Amino acid sequence: MKHIRSLEFPLSDGGFELLSFYDIRSSAPGPVLAAVAAQHGNELNGCAVIRQFARHCSENPEFRGRLIGVPFANPFALRRRRPNSDMGPEQPYTETTRNMQTHWNTTDGNEIIRLAHFWWEKLLSEADMLVDIHCYPKFNAPVIVIRPNSEKWETLARISGLPQVRYLKRETDWNGSLRCKAEDAGKICLGIELCGQYEIFDAEVDRGIRVLENLCRHLKMLPGEPEIPLEPPVVLESRVPVYAPISGLFIHRRGIASGIRVKKGDELGVMVDTATLEEIAIHAPEAGYLTTFAGRSDSDVSLRGHHRYCFVDDILAVIVPVGG
Ligand SMILES: [Zn+2]
Repeated sequence: MKHIRSLEFPLSDGGFELLSFYDIRSSAPGPVLAAVAAQHGNELNGCAVIRQFARHCSENPEFRGRLIGVPFANPFALRRRRPNSDMGPEQPYTETTRNMQTHWNTTDGNEIIRLAHFWWEKLLSEADMLVDIHCYPKFNAPVIVIRPNSEKWETLARISGLPQVRYLKRETDWNGSLRCKAEDAGKICLGIELCGQYEIFDAEVDRGIRVLENLCRHLKMLPGEPEIPLEPPVVLESRVPVYAPISGLFIHRRGIASGIRVKKGDELGVMVDTATLEEIAIHAPEAGYLTTFAGRSDSDVSLRGHHRYCFVDDILAVIVPVGG
């Protein structure tokens, strides 16, 4: 495919890492949009999103401006098949010095710090707007992260079409995130979380492509109007946890999953006491949106986090109340 460009990132051993990206330039003037994926090596939906969307733009004669598509921002973590390149088996996400998403505002240090700096200096600083595509574990629902009290950010969140919005003030954001780096340069970087890690999920790829397509339409880089869902996004603010009343295996009710709305009293599943086989039905304590369902923290690095055996008071689900 044409429209592929490469950079040589110098390694500390004297060699280099070849970093390639899609660079779709139209002769018609327009903004520069950059899409970045796989800062974390286990978050892969965005890689497929960028690959497909770059083709889409390159084949569209009405495309205007420039699309920079970086499908593999952190090839070191990707090859490691883990979130960060210094992580071993079952290691909590936070025990790392190589989390790329915390290193965009540092200029010197380990290979990942230098990698972030390199991407910014050599390429991403050329963008007017950025989209940073991540993936939550499959137990969560997709979300876009924006700054509060800003009509501009709010509009972009609606245009993304993502079902949840999370407001994050600059003061509480990771200073080293790409979002903060872009903000310091007077640009907006939209952070989005698709869902499902280690694999590529068709529905999430479609969702990510819609985000980019809508943004390009909004920015007049592609013809047409953004396709915005009728329902505004759920604000990820108050959360109602649903606890396991006993220890046992949580078996969800068929069709119940993160990303759906439930009514108060809806059955979410049953807890099966593994010693007696007695069952306790689990009901939604509130009407709302299932932002998390049947998973636990560190599920992104540990298979144990996927396991459905729950101890008493483990969190089975988290509901964002939305009334109804
Ligand atoms: Zn991530």
